[in-house]
Amino acid sequence: MPENDPLWPLVTSTRESCLGKDRCPCWDRCFVKQAREKALKSQVVVVNHHLYISSMALKAESDSIDGMLPKADLTVIDEAHQMASVACSFFGEVFSTRELEELMQELRQVGLSKVRDGADWNRLYDNVVRGVRNLRLEASLIGLTEGCRRALKDIPALGELHPAMQIIREAMLQTAAALRENAGRDEAIDNLAERHDLLTETMKVWLELIEQFRQAPEGTVPAMKADGYVRWIEATPHTLRFNATPLSIAEAFDGIRSTEGGAWVFTSATLSSNRDFTHFKHELGITEATEASWDSPFNYWEQGCFYIPEMPDPQNNTIEHTRHMVEIIWPLIAAAQGRTFLLCTSLTAVREAARLVSERLEANGNPYSLFVQGEAPKIELIERFREDGHGILIGSKSFWEGVDVKGEALALVVVDKMPFTSPDDPVAAARGEVLKAAGKSPFFLEALPEAVITLRQGAGRLIRSEEDRGMFVLCDPRILKKGYGKTVINSLPDFLPYTTQRKSTGIFPRAGSLRRGALSLVLRFTPGGRTAPDSGRPKRSASFFWRAGHPAKSAGILEQGDSFFFDREKK
Ligand code: SF4
Repeated sequence: MPENDPLWPLVTSTRESCLGKDRCPCWDRCFVKQAREKALKSQVVVVNHHLYISSMALKAESDSIDGMLPKADLTVIDEAHQMASVACSFFGEVFSTRELEELMQELRQVGLSKVRDGADWNRLYDNVVRGVRNLRLEASLIGLTEGCRRALKDIPALGELHPAMQIIREAMLQTAAALRENAGRDEAIDNLAERHDLLTETMKVWLELIEQFRQAPEGTVPAMKADGYVRWIEATPHTLRFNATPLSIAEAFDGIRSTEGGAWVFTSATLSSNRDFTHFKHELGITEATEASWDSPFNYWEQGCFYIPEMPDPQNNTIEHTRHMVEIIWPLIAAAQGRTFLLCTSLTAVREAARLVSERLEANGNPYSLFVQGEAPKIELIERFREDGHGILIGSKSFWEGVDVKGEALALVVVDKMPFTSPDDPVAAARGEVLKAAGKSPFFLEALPEAVITLRQGAGRLIRSEEDRGMFVLCDPRILKKGYGKTVINSLPDFLPYTTQRKSTGIFPRAGSLRRGALSLVLRFTPGGRTAPDSGRPKRSASFFWRAGHPAKSAGILEQGDSFFFDREKK
């Protein structure tokens, strides 16, 4: 079921939508209540991060609320690298036009079925939804278009949204009046009235902020109080989100740990950057901890190869970089006979890569299936890729982790460039300013460790079992030139390194200096390496094992445009 299916809100219990013990007629049979009761009696409870943090946030809100989970002697948080961002979303505040539209949709439905004579529910719905559409149009006129994430301080024209916001507020006040008139007639309506009140309050705060922008002299932004939050707006295809995100959740998370007590274990394959846990501890406010790293059970050196092609550095031009990347990786895709994940750092790159790969596939008689993020829900795309066995999957951030394709369906993972958060990202920029003001380096304390952890997640898609073989390609030659490159390489799985760069960089040797025979474990090359990139699937019979360190065979073979064969039989 797609994530934006209107059925979801109707089968989901949230803090806002649940009627609770006193008002729900199904309380005795409620599955959510039963699960909570079971959890409170259990010795071991397994929950996901969101449920855990929402329970803790509920407790933090009021001393009289117990939350949904029992106090634990030992709390183990797996995939703990995600905890800070999950916690941020719970400790921040959001007003989203989609949430408002969904609420109005529910209200119209319940109003028409339960208290039809109570108000003109269709008109109330239309007024709000029309107001939201108008707001989104006005937002696009001041540059808040799809995909945009902008801090308020970078939107001097924000005041122009005031009339559109005011129209929505008036429509919401009319709805609130209708809900008051129907108070006590139906429990579902009363519950919706509470949710509506909360949303109206949040909306009012934003309206007041926007009013300050309207009154500021043209081209300037009003001074905003430093309250530990960054306020920013995000435009997606379906919604405008007005966010207040905490600059740090270290204090809040430290508070959770002190209140809960007990012992805590944080684990993940990607908690550290070059075995340094500073970034992770700083994010969660952990000052004292016993730290340990263990090597992976996989023999990365023999199972995988890490390739950095010779190509121009990625500049700000995503389209140009994606074009270079597809040109370079196409022979690898052909050699791997599909079986490729192409992980991009932006949706623009996903779209462009999909267009270019699709053109090449068409020109070659569509030998492999193409799966692109957005065509279907993530789980379905992965399933189809796995079943196909020769697919090419192109996706952005959500495909970098939590995707497990074991076996022969995946042999090549390509990353378009180092996944640095854009310097324009409002939250990253605001956190960077705080660090700079404290005389610290945002790049080394935030941007680099975060990018390394994301890259490790991406690289981790390749080898998922002891039988897997394949190649990890990072289309970002800056790694071989910049000072931080060593940190990046040392943080990645210990794949056999290989580059077509002309000179050895010391940390990333050319193939010729690798130990004899090493490459043959994972790669085969065509004789002379001169198979044309678009000549279709390479034939195995035309290949031979290329022995690393053999000068006669290595000379001139490993140039751009060569064809590579993946040899999955361990020799
Ligand atoms: S208490 Fe009622 S409204 Fe709340 S989740 Fe259970 S069944 Fe749904």
